[in-house]
Amino acid sequence: MDRVEEMLGEVRRTFKGGRTRGVEWRKAQLQALLNLLAENEDKIIEALRQDLGKHPVEAYRDEVGVVKKSATNAFRCVEKWMAPQKGRIPLVFFPARGAVVSEPLGVVLIFASWNFPISLALDPVIGAISAGNTVVLKPSDLAPKCSSFLANTIPLYLDPEAIKVVEGGKDISEQLLQLKWDKIFFTGSPQVARLIMSAAAKHLTPVTLELGGKCPTILDTLSNSSDLQVAVKRIVGGKWGPCNGQACIGIDYVLVETQFAPVLIELLKKFIKRFYGENLKTLENLARIVNKHHFERVHNLLKDPNVAATIVYGGSVDEENMVIEPTILLNPPLDAEIMTEEIFGPLLPIITLNTIEESIQFINSRPKPLAIYAFTKNDSLKEKILQETSSGSLTFNDAIIQFVADTLPFGGVGQSGFGRYHGKFSFDTFSHEKAVLHRSFLIELEPRYPPWNDFKMDF
Ligand code: NAD
Repeated sequence: MDRVEEMLGEVRRTFKGGRTRGVEWRKAQLQALLNLLAENEDKIIEALRQDLGKHPVEAYRDEVGVVKKSATNAFRCVEKWMAPQKGRIPLVFFPARGAVVSEPLGVVLIFASWNFPISLALDPVIGAISAGNTVVLKPSDLAPKCSSFLANTIPLYLDPEAIKVVEGGKDISEQLLQLKWDKIFFTGSPQVARLIMSAAAKHLTPVTLELGGKCPTILDTLSNSSDLQVAVKRIVGGKWGPCNGQACIGIDYVLVETQFAPVLIELLKKFIKRFYGENLKTLENLARIVNKHHFERVHNLLKDPNVAATIVYGGSVDEENMVIEPTILLNPPLDAEIMTEEIFGPLLPIITLNTIEESIQFINSRPKPLAIYAFTKNDSLKEKILQETSSGSLTFNDAIIQFVADTLPFGGVGQSGFGRYHGKFSFDTFSHEKAVLHRSFLIELEPRYPPWNDFKMDF
């Protein structure tokens, strides 16, 4: 505890010293982060291979590339983001002018999760330093190579008195949560998020919670064969592509009209085989299930005999190497865990409906998801989905890519979390927007002061 307190004391002193407020410091940190990425790309890719078996292409695309893009964007834009915004002031205050000035919150605590252990740690750090805060980052202990890479490398590049990394699991997290922070940014599960929020409540610390849930995909009946092929390719990429289904915005299940399911299943099989092959021993284009606990959790979803009976593709398991084949299920029971819990693994249930419009009611009868994907060319269906469902994000005719669009906010709603980040939204998340009003000593309206009388009432 003493060590953690000491660390907090040091970053707080640094913040109070004021150097993190200047644009020079912020840009220097962002440049240092870009240097860190450029000079350590191989080490990062190797750490991701060891922790999660990510292929170097996937590791670059989802981690190194994502962070480079965010840091470059922040480096280019931070001065503009920091500039005070003009605020219109009512004429009655004349002469006066108003401004909204973004100020740093202070010392922020960032918890990252294990599935994108580099990007989900560094992306919020970019927002926090762009906004002029000092930071303590707690990477996930379930990705230990990435965690120790961050702990060992960040102090060599970034200001060590302002940005600290603390490694550890539940115990260290609990110690961190006893302390007073100016902001807690948490990426993880809704279960742990509840602990974070109640700890934050003690100090009235604001929190951003980036959580998960079951992200549905609506696949409308597409008559054009080329559109259909593109849609199914994107569904396969959106399910198994990022970290083998272990992604908060990964596709959890697909909703489709009954008569369309056989076509979908055939195409899913075709693209799974093309992208990932069929041999459990050589699935090197798929990331690994992170550990024994998660392997067993996903495996148990399949062990339910009522669920196993609905497997239409895959289902093989290599227990020794903790591999589960990409698996498709058709209409597993809706009360089975596979349909009530976030899957976070390589299983894809397909749920059939009489009409695709029923997908809206299906989604609305469950907690609000982090993302909804809908593949359709029907504008009135698009409008209905947009107006009648609620989710962190809604993407038409693709999956996952909303994550890298920095001009769009990224975050959840309801059970998938609250708060948002990416691009300017990250800067705002780690800033306080202070209202500033400048008034002149000229023009004094006496009716604003007592003693009250009828004339002042009319005024
Ligand atoms: P998790 O909640 O188990 O862990 C997240 C972080 O909290 C880790 O740093 C962990 O060390 C810490 N932690 C664990 N137990 C704790 C405790 N008792 N007290 C305090 N801190 C504790 O989540 P995870 O397994 O790392 O990630 C999987 C979950 O995260 C899924 O639900 C997924 O959907 C979600 N997720 C969300 C996003 C997003 O951006 N919205 C991204 C990735 C993952």
